Amino acid sequence: MASVTSASHYPHLLSPLDLGFTQLKNRVVMGSIHTGMEDRFYNYGKLAAYFAERARGGAGLLITGGISPNRQGWLLPFGGTLNRYADVPSHRRITRAVHREGGKIVMQILHAGRYGYQPLLVSASRVKSPITPFKPRALSERGIRATIKDYGRCARLAQLAGYDGVELMGSEGYLLNQFICARTNRRQDRWGGSVDNRMRLPLEIVREVRRRVGPEFILIYRLSLIDLVEGGNTWDDIVTIAKALEAEGITLLNTGIGWHEARVPTIMSAVPRAAFREVTARMRRELRIPIMASNRINDPDTAESLIADGDADLVSMARALLADPDFVNKAAAGKPEAINTCIACNQACFDHVFALKRATCLVNPRAAYETELNYRPSAQPRRVAVVGAGMAGLACASVAAQRGHRVELFEAAGQIGGQFRLAMSVPGKEEFRETIRYYDYELQRTGVQLHLGTPVEAGALSGDFDDIVIATGVRPRVPAISGIDHAKVCTYADVLSGRIIPGARVAVIGAGGIGVDVCEYLLHQGRHSSISEYCEEWGIDLKVASAGGLRQVNAPPPVRRIWMLQRSKSGKMGAGPGRTTGWAHRITLQRGGVEFIGGAEYRRIDDAGLHIAVDGEARLIEVDHVVICAGQESVRSLYEARPAGLRYHVIGGADIAAELDAKRAIRQGTELAARL
Ligand code: NAP
Ligand code: SF4
Repeated sequence: MASVTSASHYPHLLSPLDLGFTQLKNRVVMGSIHTGMEDRFYNYGKLAAYFAERARGGAGLLITGGISPNRQGWLLPFGGTLNRYADVPSHRRITRAVHREGGKIVMQILHAGRYGYQPLLVSASRVKSPITPFKPRALSERGIRATIKDYGRCARLAQLAGYDGVELMGSEGYLLNQFICARTNRRQDRWGGSVDNRMRLPLEIVREVRRRVGPEFILIYRLSLIDLVEGGNTWDDIVTIAKALEAEGITLLNTGIGWHEARVPTIMSAVPRAAFREVTARMRRELRIPIMASNRINDPDTAESLIADGDADLVSMARALLADPDFVNKAAAGKPEAINTCIACNQACFDHVFALKRATCLVNPRAAYETELNYRPSAQPRRVAVVGAGMAGLACASVAAQRGHRVELFEAAGQIGGQFRLAMSVPGKEEFRETIRYYDYELQRTGVQLHLGTPVEAGALSGDFDDIVIATGVRPRVPAISGIDHAKVCTYADVLSGRIIPGARVAVIGAGGIGVDVCEYLLHQGRHSSISEYCEEWGIDLKVASAGGLRQVNAPPPVRRIWMLQRSKSGKMGAGPGRTTGWAHRITLQRGGVEFIGGAEYRRIDDAGLHIAVDGEARLIEVDHVVICAGQESVRSLYEARPAGLRYHVIGGADIAAELDAKRAIRQGTELAARL
């Protein structure tokens, strides 16, 4: 293993790692993240540009999204597969692009097993997963033998395609994990039962892959260090498996945390940074090969501390490099404030993948669109006024200025950030402040002239600018309910800004994303969780003494009684937030005793509380406060009153308030700026 050499910034993180036959230039690995582009060869040009940009950004090693070794292993029908020589040239486009930038890239081999969203799926046993509709077929002895061969052939083809190695995906509940754990492995033959039998498949695959690729090829195994599901492994089993993999000749051990079906959040923003470092550190003491830490590491200081403290040898940051391909170069230049930090929202990466859309990034709409969305210098710099410094206005102003336009940004409030600033006070959304910090930096770097506390009157800007961009955002909708002016009524903005602290009994009108945010805020008293509180709240045993590392949930008692209401009967509580995070919010609200009332007809609000009717039956909810989270309306009077003949543009919530989120606001602002 390499000794740490000196570098002035982040000396441990940025030190090289000698693997004997090859060297990584630093300890930053872009972990595997599926973009959807892997599944179609006509997208490999885009994929090559995507990886080349990250190699140029300085990452020591890149890992592709999962590629299946055969058809049974498809995540989706006709998903990315490498099992014939004819597919090699497409992969070469990626490896050549990365090597041209001085980077290294490893291809992940992922057999989905019972997580496949397709009817051919196979697993250790015939046990259906709770997150896919198809029941797997149990692999026969012959099928297992063929699968081992398929892995070997896939790895060899990856080598011929120019990859620097392969990663075997053995965590998160995919096929190899399904064999390793009794939860899904009910076999009674030599592939099931004892831990020696359960780990036989991964070990034979490693042996076969090594046989096919030789000793001088990076072979990473991603092992689940804590399954977070019932029937998962205990620490003793996991150590036994890791040591056996090491003995079989893997180069690096990557760490996985939790299965996809686990009902414990492991990557969303509510998970404290580097929450699982303790588990990685313990495993590192058991092995001689280098080990990689993962999950919720998104800033260079945390990453540096993991290496400096001896908790890991490498740090895997997939989403962090999706958000900012120049992460490493910026860290090396001693400019962490310049990094566009991943806020762990999942809204444009994992939520897109599950919706079968191309993954990208909420804070970086260029991610996975490198060939389509470019910020080229403008041939004719223009004078641009942007009104409103919420997410749409900030994105538009900073990208326009980066392209060479002369940009002035006008904001009525005393700070930038708009609605997004409110969101960062929600427990578990503290990462959102990073985006505001980033835009603050970008406005200065690109030379945007910022006018805070400056409301703009209609027509006031007309003479001085070539383009006027209206990004004045939204205002909370005030529903027409009798008594809406009562002293106990307030808006979500009043609550999240801290202007009003609601009493012990609260009714929340509206069950969308903001209603959920307000409930979380009220349940937690606006307090953010430490690692130990997070483990208590979700029943995580970092010692992994029990199977899967689960223990009893010990959530703090709710400090308020909350009712959450909506008029529509259909839809579940808090249906707004995304697929990969919504379930966790719903569990938190259920544990906090939030009572959900659908089909509510609001009658009036008075000293007694909120009067409603459900199915015609009157009901009084006795509350101290009623918080309105009933959606928003566009603020667009400047656009409506625009003088004729000028180039006015409208973006973000001012354009369309319905279903507005930061993802749409940033993308719309960026795309407009790229066109100006
Ligand atoms: P929303 O998701 O549209 O929800 C608005 C809620 O207000 C609905 O429950 C709606 O239900 C109710 N409502 C609408 N008109 C009403 C009226 N006139 N009187 C009473 N109730 C009314 O809007 P939001 O919660 O304000 O969120 C805004 C956007 O931000 C959404 O796109 C959301 O996805 C996004 N967001 C996302 C997250 C996240 O974590 N991903 C978090 C926060 C916000 P009924 O019409 O049935 O009453
Ligand atoms: Fe991170 Fe959100 Fe971007 Fe995904 S979409 S990479 S979670 S900031």
